[in-house]
Amino acid sequence: MDIIVIGSGIGGLTAAALLARYGKRVIVCESHTIAGGAAHSFRRRGFEFDSGPSFYCGLTGDNRSASSLNPVKQVLDVLGESLATVSYDPLGHYHFPEGSLPVYSNAERYRQELAKITPQGAKEFQQFEQRLLPLYHAMKGIPSLALRADWQVIPLLVGRYLPSLLKMLPNLPLVQGSVGSVMDSTVQDPWVRRLIDLECFLLSGLKAHGTIAPEVAFMLGERSRVGVEYPVGGSGAIIKALVRGLERWGGKLRLGCHVEEILVESGKAVGVKLQNGEMLKAPIVISNASMWDTYTKLLAPEDLPPSFYQAALATPAVESFMHLHLGIKADGLEDLTGHHVVVHNNQQDITVPGNTCMISIPSVWDGNLAPPGHHVVHTYTLEPYAGWERNQGYEEKKREKAETLYRALSRVIPDIRERVVLEMIGTPLTHAHYLRRYHGTYGPAIAAGKGTFPGTHTPIKGLYRVGDSTMPGIGVPAVAASGIMCANTLVDVRQIGELLGNTKK
Ligand SMILES: Cc1cc2nc3c(=O)[nH]c(=O)nc-3n(C[C@H](O)[C@H](O)[C@H](O)COP(=O)(O)OP(=O)(O)OC[C@H]3O[C@@H](n4cnc5c(N)ncnc54)[C@H](O)[C@@H]3O)c2cc1C
Repeated sequence: MDIIVIGSGIGGLTAAALLARYGKRVIVCESHTIAGGAAHSFRRRGFEFDSGPSFYCGLTGDNRSASSLNPVKQVLDVLGESLATVSYDPLGHYHFPEGSLPVYSNAERYRQELAKITPQGAKEFQQFEQRLLPLYHAMKGIPSLALRADWQVIPLLVGRYLPSLLKMLPNLPLVQGSVGSVMDSTVQDPWVRRLIDLECFLLSGLKAHGTIAPEVAFMLGERSRVGVEYPVGGSGAIIKALVRGLERWGGKLRLGCHVEEILVESGKAVGVKLQNGEMLKAPIVISNASMWDTYTKLLAPEDLPPSFYQAALATPAVESFMHLHLGIKADGLEDLTGHHVVVHNNQQDITVPGNTCMISIPSVWDGNLAPPGHHVVHTYTLEPYAGWERNQGYEEKKREKAETLYRALSRVIPDIRERVVLEMIGTPLTHAHYLRRYHGTYGPAIAAGKGTFPGTHTPIKGLYRVGDSTMPGIGVPAVAASGIMCANTLVDVRQIGELLGNTKK
């Protein structure tokens, strides 16, 4: 075996599948019996539930990799795999105490909706967009598939994408800048400022001053360019396509295969020890477990330099989640739309656990995700991990904490409680358990200007990391990009050039 990948989250799968595509012998060891990590789907009584993500764009299109900016799509293209999707607009509705706002992918339509609430705010929002979009236009000329995490990226990009690199130059100050600073210089309207904070929070888990500008530039540019879409079959369809691609190119996936330890000899990774005692040997190990899990559970503290170890563990983490997964009766809900965000209380910060609730009803796009006459619902909100224990009061606390999610749902489906035919409440303990994630966190809370996400390299030779606690950060496109950067770093530049092949612009 050339490479062992620990974990089949999107970061692990993209790295593994791409390395298999490059001709490496790869095995993915996934602890859970279902692949996909935060993006896995699971089935109960005919309902297909997403465990996490449901907002996507750029998953389809023609199969020239450079035409879609979504790194998942770029990887699927070179693997020879594809997905069917359903497009929809508005992409969601934001519900505030004072009223609701449809959010359109198309920038012009979105601004028209804003203008109905605050004409001056809509003008300011346009100025905000105009400051960010040049960065998006510069970034979009460089496919993620061309990136790697060492100096060799420079000649590669200069050789193939010089015009786009030149466009990047005037935008460099924005690259590590915060959305907040762009907002401060363009938007005074308090209503629009809260809206921008909300959009940032939905993306990064942090408000505008904590979120880096490229993330929002990319989101605004891309959703207006290609619109949003949902994969037929649910989020699990993305995982299935990546697994098919991995296996098509000779890679292997082992489920229910928990890695207990990364084996290190003389400062070099040499393989892994599985929970069942089996040893797998390879000169390269890639961990898709979070940075906290990798460094505290899979390695011994003495394997890492003490200052590195302490700094890594001191990285702040975004909270975990309460989840409510429901199967509901669909009669009379013909006009239901799929995505909603409910903010309960304007006097409270949007980041206060329970105040902002996300709702996804994907059976409105793909009826096969629920039995006939039913919908499948996933609602979630932030919830701290601390204080949760599986003790006597657990069931009662769970029920109590799910109330805010029911209240949010009743903004969209007033008689929600009478419709429920299947109910599952998940707590931070559930999230941490099924996703094998440290404290069930959404990911690192690395605020703009306060640090950058660590790269794929580690102080241990032969050990690499991918996923949402590495560059570029949290979210499906970002973790897929981390997988690409890691895989490309482990192969010859010539091989990357061959893969990019006729995608040269
Ligand atoms: C509720 C929710 C909603 C979200 N919504 C969106 C959205 O709409 N759009 C979007 O783009 N992003 C969204 N995200 C974010 C996105 O889903 C994640 O950032 C991304 O999926 C994380 O991928 P990852 O590669 O970092 O790994 P993870 O998904 O964390 O996967 C890591 C894998 O490693 C495995 N593992 C860990 N330890 C071991 C071990 N010791 N041995 C073997 N296997 C192990 C785990 O079981 C897991 O399968 C959402 C996330 C959540 C939680």
